[in-house]
Amino acid sequence: MWYALIANLAVVGLLLSAFAHGEPLLLMLGPRIRAAALGGVMGLGAIASIMLSVELPDGTVFDLRATLIGVSSLLGGPIAGLITAALVATHLLLVSGSGATADLVGIAVATGLGLLGYRLLGGRPPSLLVTMLFALLGTPLALLGFAAARAQGIDPVLSQGALASLILSIAATFVALQVLVFSHQRAEETMLFMAAADLAPDFAYVKNPRGRFLLANQAFASLHGIAQARQLRGKTDFDIAPPDRAEALFTEEQQVLQSGLPILEREELQVDEQGNERWFTATKTPLYNSRGDALGLIGVMRDITWKKESDRELLASRDQLAFVLTEMSDGLALFDSEGRIIYCNEQYQSMFPITGRLRVPGAFLPDILRAAVRHGEQPYIPQDDVDQWVDTVVSALRTGRDEEVHLFDGRWLHIRTKPHAGGNATVVVSDMTLIKRAETELRGLTNELKLQATTDALTGLANRRAIDECLAIELARTKRSGQPLSLVMIDIDHFKAFNDIYGHPAGDACLRSVANALEQTERRAGDFVGRYGGEEFCAILPDTDEDGAYFFAERLRKAVRELGQRHEGSEKGVITISVGVATYAAEETDRTDVRLIARADEALYVAKGAGRDRVNGWTSGRSARWPGAQAT
Ligand code: GH3
Ligand code: MG
Ligand code: MG
Repeated sequence: MWYALIANLAVVGLLLSAFAHGEPLLLMLGPRIRAAALGGVMGLGAIASIMLSVELPDGTVFDLRATLIGVSSLLGGPIAGLITAALVATHLLLVSGSGATADLVGIAVATGLGLLGYRLLGGRPPSLLVTMLFALLGTPLALLGFAAARAQGIDPVLSQGALASLILSIAATFVALQVLVFSHQRAEETMLFMAAADLAPDFAYVKNPRGRFLLANQAFASLHGIAQARQLRGKTDFDIAPPDRAEALFTEEQQVLQSGLPILEREELQVDEQGNERWFTATKTPLYNSRGDALGLIGVMRDITWKKESDRELLASRDQLAFVLTEMSDGLALFDSEGRIIYCNEQYQSMFPITGRLRVPGAFLPDILRAAVRHGEQPYIPQDDVDQWVDTVVSALRTGRDEEVHLFDGRWLHIRTKPHAGGNATVVVSDMTLIKRAETELRGLTNELKLQATTDALTGLANRRAIDECLAIELARTKRSGQPLSLVMIDIDHFKAFNDIYGHPAGDACLRSVANALEQTERRAGDFVGRYGGEEFCAILPDTDEDGAYFFAERLRKAVRELGQRHEGSEKGVITISVGVATYAAEETDRTDVRLIARADEALYVAKGAGRDRVNGWTSGRSARWPGAQAT
């Protein structure tokens, strides 16, 4: 009896474990096929159990049909349950013919109970509690179904054999459910794990201690030109890599296994068939069982080619930047938003002869600026306004600024501050001393040229160009202000004869002394004297009426006469001048330079005609000798 009982349980156990083994494959084939397979296996198990049924001493017949039908329905749903039920029913009908009708009721009850549980669980795997409840409540009910149908009545007092049979069935139901649920979960986890490993970009494998592949993900297989990861199973590196590389890998991995020391992220270069360089990191970890025996080795490789390349590019650009920063002639500093130096090159420090040593990373700009003022590096900062100046310079880190800084040693620096989006700011300092010097020289040269362009070379007086400019300006100004304007034209008498008698150089000297006499004659601040051309001079007298102009002209005439320059070609015996005066009176607003000059010329011509060495004024409509003018 015991042998029969053990054989019964063993056959069912064997079928359960076979099914558990096949789980991973069934998962891949889909839920319906899995349910059908479960139904089939459970059906066969139930038939075997019926065939090996045990008759207990009190005549109770024990087998696991109720357990297996119930389990199949609960875990596999209608497909599994109905297949199991159909198999068992067919078997019983074939064996017992019409005598099996009673058992069909039991089969229906067991299937119904399992399917009810399946329905209540909504297809989810049962928890431990549900498994226990199903085993404790479902099993007796199913057994009752069989017994009731068979005996046409229920004996309220359970026989000893029936009790043992019930306990065994409950235990078998519980164990069977647990085994199947557990194996299903394991298979699902394994499948998920393998799917994850195949999706991972890394190349992963597991090898046994002799270097044979047990597992590899799809990426690893593809890397070695192998279509399916499972084709690698049982192969070694000698099958997929060149012999010397395979040898090196084998030696290395044996070392890892023997020493127990893993290899972590070792970088290695591989050149593929097309000659492309690819960089990998390799990590190899040995696996041991609890007794310390080597089980194998897990390896993970990662492609870091792009990282290597970007590292190389970064390094190259960093080198270039460092080169530029040290070789550039400008000083460069980087400030953070609080005004502290983050970085500066040597040039930046050497641009500032006194505060250069303070300008180091971490230094605070306001401190540096105050030191620059205190030690006189920037002497042109007003001492009573230092705080204001410091604020302006520091706030430029946020707003940006271009400034020219004059240092105590005469050097000029151009400082350009440019804020960045992130709150930092770059400061570029260029020595602009040479530019400044050239600028000053150029300005001097320009002024000199301007002076030359408006000065008469022989006498040093303003020349014709300056006279024209001055006259145009004064005409416009006095027209606006409603003031009079006078023009005095001066011509040396008998100068041709002077040249003829004393020679041209003496003539030049004479022109110079006449010019000097005219220039020295006392005049008002705005009065202007120039050489009009040849031996002719003129004076522009703004805000001066006819009388004023006449008196000034008279002073000029006297001044020249008083030079006493001998002139034997003149009836006066000395150098004299004739002077014509023309005035725009205040009320005369229609003014042109041409007309004013013509009038003065006209007045001068009359003075010449009247005997020279005299002043003559032009008054509207006529040219007449000035009343009161004296010819001496
Ligand atoms: P008038 O009394 O009518 O003015 O007689 P003038 O001889 O002074 O007049 P004219 O216009 O005939 O002669 C002007 C002379 O001035 C002619 C020229 O030789 C001389 N002259 C003009 N410019 C210069 C100069 O730069 N140097 C010298 N030495 N002589 C000059
Ligand atoms: Mg003349
Ligand atoms: Mg003359």
